Amino acid sequence: MHLDLIDIGVNLAHGRFRSDLPQVIERAQAAGVQRMIATGTSVQASLEARALAERYPGEIYATAGVHPHHARLWDGSVAETLRELAASASVVAIGECGLDYDRDFSPRDAQRRAFAAQLALSGAVGLPVFLHERAAHADFTAILREHAREVSVVVHCFTGERAELDAYLELGAYLGITGWICDDRRGVHLRELVRHIPRERLMIETDAPFLLPPSLRDAVRGRRNEPAYLTHVLEAVAKAVGAETVDVARSTTAAARSLFRLGER
Ligand SMILES: [Zn+2]
Repeated sequence: MHLDLIDIGVNLAHGRFRSDLPQVIERAQAAGVQRMIATGTSVQASLEARALAERYPGEIYATAGVHPHHARLWDGSVAETLRELAASASVVAIGECGLDYDRDFSPRDAQRRAFAAQLALSGAVGLPVFLHERAAHADFTAILREHAREVSVVVHCFTGERAELDAYLELGAYLGITGWICDDRRGVHLRELVRHIPRERLMIETDAPFLLPPSLRDAVRGRRNEPAYLTHVLEAVAKAVGAETVDVARSTTAAARSLFRLGER
């Protein structure tokens, strides 16, 4: 069965892929994950993601952004570098950016500043935004609402509640679902919620090397997630929405191609 999936969020620039990246990509493609969007979480990671995208044209694309964990490092030169990266053909989105009040690795005012600046940048350069939100829904939607008209966004790794989902859908957001949905404990509520996401707004992602689906915990050495395991997310989503796997494969790929405009590249 040929799936032609797109992993919209995979941290390929992460150190845990340094030693065997070609094999990781080979396994992904053998599993039907033809395309991957390498997440940029800092200037350095964004530069590395773009370098990877240039090495694997048409297979890997990159985002360019500063994760809320690193928001304390935001300044004019960071903004300038992201703007330059955004001009590359292989860079398909701004982000990962947003707010994370769960970890609070950067002060909240610095997080809000970096988030708003990246939304403004995406509006200026005409790219969609790859978003991260943890325990910050009210501030996050307030800032997003100010830019919702100029930008298209995907809220990556959605794990929230119904009211949060409704707010995102009302703002026109796409939603990314990860291996959380495979978790028999903390992912159960998502299996009901995912049915309320219109299929043209629903995408799948691994967030590898993080978030290994629990069913693989004993089988995978070091518990490192990788894009080949996107099929586990696909199957869990298909089961939750009561659809055929191939149909969800098709709709999630179409949604990703549409938001990231991969058809034009
Ligand atoms: Zn994230």
